[in-house]
Amino acid sequence: MSEPIRNLTIVGGGTAGWLAAAMISASRNGTSDAAPLNVTLIESPTIPTVGVGEATTLSMGWTLDLAGLDENDFIRSCDVTFKAAVKFIDWDRSDDGTPLSYYHPFSIPPYLNGYAPAYHYHRRHKGGGGRSFAHSMLGSCAVLDALKSPRKPGAQSLDGLFPYAYHVNAGLFAGYLREYCKTIGVNHVLDDVVGVNRDERGFVSSLALERGGDHPVEFVIDCSGFRSLILQQALEEPFVSFQESLPCDRAIPMPIDHPEPGGKLPPYTTSTGLSAGWAWNVPLWSRRGTGYVYSSAHISDDEAIAELAAHNGVAPPENSRSIHMNIGRTRHTWVKNCVGMGLAAGFIEPLESTSIHFVQMSVRWLLDNFPTRDCSPALQQNFNGLTATLYEEIRDFIALHYVLNNRDDTPFWRFARDELTCPDRLAHLIELWRHKLPSAPDLPNRGALFSEWSYMYVLFGKKFFAGMDFPSEDAIRDADFDEFLFSVASDKNRLMAEAPDHRAAIAEIREMQSTPWYRPAGTSVDLAGAGGEAGAIA
Ligand SMILES: Cc1cc2nc3c(=O)[nH]c(=O)nc-3n(C[C@H](O)[C@H](O)[C@H](O)COP(=O)(O)OP(=O)(O)OC[C@H]3O[C@@H](n4cnc5c(N)ncnc54)[C@H](O)[C@@H]3O)c2cc1C
Repeated sequence: MSEPIRNLTIVGGGTAGWLAAAMISASRNGTSDAAPLNVTLIESPTIPTVGVGEATTLSMGWTLDLAGLDENDFIRSCDVTFKAAVKFIDWDRSDDGTPLSYYHPFSIPPYLNGYAPAYHYHRRHKGGGGRSFAHSMLGSCAVLDALKSPRKPGAQSLDGLFPYAYHVNAGLFAGYLREYCKTIGVNHVLDDVVGVNRDERGFVSSLALERGGDHPVEFVIDCSGFRSLILQQALEEPFVSFQESLPCDRAIPMPIDHPEPGGKLPPYTTSTGLSAGWAWNVPLWSRRGTGYVYSSAHISDDEAIAELAAHNGVAPPENSRSIHMNIGRTRHTWVKNCVGMGLAAGFIEPLESTSIHFVQMSVRWLLDNFPTRDCSPALQQNFNGLTATLYEEIRDFIALHYVLNNRDDTPFWRFARDELTCPDRLAHLIELWRHKLPSAPDLPNRGALFSEWSYMYVLFGKKFFAGMDFPSEDAIRDADFDEFLFSVASDKNRLMAEAPDHRAAIAEIREMQSTPWYRPAGTSVDLAGAGGEAGAIA
């Protein structure tokens, strides 16, 4: 067997770099009886991080647990609030032109005699009218409307009334992880990588640092952001663009104050369709993260800034910057002895806040496929297959929002509907779902990020199924649905009684006595319902 890897190098000190360093170091060194894995993170003192990326998916609970981070401390330190859904506004319109709005929540309802209660809902509301789909399925939607919290302040860490993720200040989070990494022995080097040296096999053998000279490499994770210094530049791994299926290529962040200081805090992210893309609204504890993701073919930067400012009800700020987004992925994310993570590996627009999730999954898969120094091609192939599948799953789910939009008011929305290339797999699913409702076996990706329920929340929200008939509806009983609605109403009443106001809950957590800021790695909490296969690395 070839030599074990004892030294791991990470290039980049953004969220991706520090998250990878924290997760790998905590999981490889906390409970192992083998020789330690030395982790060194090299970060440029002058090149800034992208500094946006403020909403997460459910898997963040698993990551806090793996790294042994205390949830309350994380909430207090990183300006965190809870996120239990994405609310979509004006991605579609009703027949009279009024904007549709719907939730994509993280919770899922139980099945009725083997059938999704979505069938019962659909048979009762064929025309697309009636109570909203998500509200009919889940008692927790009323809690979202009431701006209440998915977790009680005194509850055990990660023990929610219903599943939740987080809104987090990206800059504070990277700094928090950096301090944590220092306590668990990650070496931090502030220097610029100015050259990448390779051996006769093409493996990266060392990095030339501007001030520190040569840094030897056994295995390297490239987290250098959109530059993709090693993976795309030095190793020349080609980039596979997704632009033909996803129309937006620019983003303007515009952080602003809350409308009223001390006012209510939504426990969800809002995404509102504008004239040439969509605006995000991420309620952090001390401010709102907002921004416009748009197509440069349909609006100029200045027009986008003006439109977003008007949407936010503020004057256009003078210092707005437009971020150029390279939408797609590197062909392979693991090449030779280098794995790319974060923006260096690829990026899909942030509509469903999937980028940090991707880093977490990449770390998880790297730990499961951890190589010796020869980097077996079988491990690489397995890892590359997993990452390619996840990129395509996310691309398809985001594309769904665009290709099925029914807005006619601007060229952008018509372009998104009529001229984007619908990926083959998505086109197949859309055709399939004209004949049945989405179910788990329709989705080829085991452990998918977006379940059949995610698709149903969006498709019902868009009124995609209006007027359709499904043969499977003959197998269901109407009375079952009445019982189901009764149980949803009971659940709603219980949650409304138990859930505290979101702002009040976060305020109380911020005031609570600090527990040790991290637990010894490996002392796990029960994450059932908070992120799928939580607790297991492999
Ligand atoms: C508009 C927008 C909104 C987003 N919203 C979300 C969201 O809601 N949720 C989500 O999960 N993600 C989101 N993302 C993605 C998220 O911002 C990134 O995935 C995340 O910040 C990780 O970035 P990164 O660490 O890969 O890169 P960066 O933050 O760009 O960090 C790159 C690092 O590499 C270093 N570096 C570069 N060159 C060198 C060199 N030569 N030598 C040494 N160091 C070097 C830099 O100094 C820096 O430390 C969003 C992204 C954009 C653009």
